[in-house]
Amino acid sequence: MEIKLNRWTKSDIFRPEVLEKIYNDGSCSFCHYTHPWETNGPLPGCPSGFVGMHESYYPRGMYDLIRGIHEGIITEPTEKLLEIVYSCNGCGQCGYVCPSMEKLPKPNEIIEEFKAVLVKLGWGPMERHKAIAEAVKEYGNPYGEDPIGKEGWMDSKIKNRKKGDVLFYVGCTSALREKQMVTATAQVLDKLNVEYAVLGKEEICCGSVLLRTGQVDVAIETAEKNLKAIESSGAETLVTACPGCFMTMSRDYPRILKENIGEEIKIVHITQFLASKLKEVEFKPFDGTHTVTYHDPCHLGRHGGVIEEPRKILKAIPNLQYIELERSRMNSFCCGSGGGVKAGFPEKSIKVANERLREIKEAGANAIVTVCPFCEKNFKDATDEIEVIDLVELVNRLL
Ligand code: SF4
Ligand code: SF4
Repeated sequence: MEIKLNRWTKSDIFRPEVLEKIYNDGSCSFCHYTHPWETNGPLPGCPSGFVGMHESYYPRGMYDLIRGIHEGIITEPTEKLLEIVYSCNGCGQCGYVCPSMEKLPKPNEIIEEFKAVLVKLGWGPMERHKAIAEAVKEYGNPYGEDPIGKEGWMDSKIKNRKKGDVLFYVGCTSALREKQMVTATAQVLDKLNVEYAVLGKEEICCGSVLLRTGQVDVAIETAEKNLKAIESSGAETLVTACPGCFMTMSRDYPRILKENIGEEIKIVHITQFLASKLKEVEFKPFDGTHTVTYHDPCHLGRHGGVIEEPRKILKAIPNLQYIELERSRMNSFCCGSGGGVKAGFPEKSIKVANERLREIKEAGANAIVTVCPFCEKNFKDATDEIEVIDLVELVNRLL
């Protein structure tokens, strides 16, 4: 059977620099691990390979599959092929350690494009991911819920703040699933005397989950609607509570949209905003007895470059006993939730979280602070032994 590749797949995934990368791969296996001289390792770095326990689940195995399609050897989708490709969390560790030339795309970028090719071929994504795209198209959020639910945490005063210099972009998961994070962020902004605007039921999904699962066309439509809603606020600064929204709007929108959101509006994550105000605030002493560590969400740290700001905030809290993990900063190990894996294969997500929790326990921490609704949910699903603390909720309590 001959696969009719459309123009998009030919012009993108099989473009010369991708072919150069996948046909001349160094096969060094660095992408299995953390950076060899930045950690006391190498330690497991790729969550997909860690759980899959086979070369196919690492970038090289994915390249074999892409070559197979390119050469017409793989002519139809199998359950196994989809399972392998959609096991990639998109965590970016392989992109960080891969020593191939700068001009070539990173392994994680190629795998994300591969997911988009599978969608274009009609082979992917997983059924659960298709349902998410349908929900975003109909309701503007991946949970298929009435958009009015996004206003559930607001009083009438907040609801009416439609315009302002600072826009608080709440995000679907925070607004609909982790409301305590939203309330904490809003209260922290109030304590800092920030008159923020909100979009409420007009706020549209940022499209992160759609891009991560290869559903690029729906992601672009969604991003365009989102951009219009954001522009209606007249804001100069957009503060996001969710690392996924932050990365998608700051890194992906300039790439997928004709208009560059970042030229008109400065996009910052709440931890960057808070870190810039540290001189103006004084925290009460830490009210727990835990030894605390920080988990870098992949979208915020490795992808977004926001690494020191959360640590600066934690270090400004008196009496907080803090330890650093071996796999931290650019070598942080994924929580297991990203890339649509939690939706497609929840049991894989839990296995990855357990590996991270093992490291945390062995390091001597009994509480993990992070700042991502997906990481927090996945860790909470995986453990009752380690306390999972949201950084902004902690800040709100101690301000
Ligand atoms: S992005 Fe992460 S999960 Fe995917 S192949 Fe690279 S290291 Fe593995
Ligand atoms: S993708 Fe990069 S790190 Fe992985 S085997 Fe190939 S050259 Fe090495």
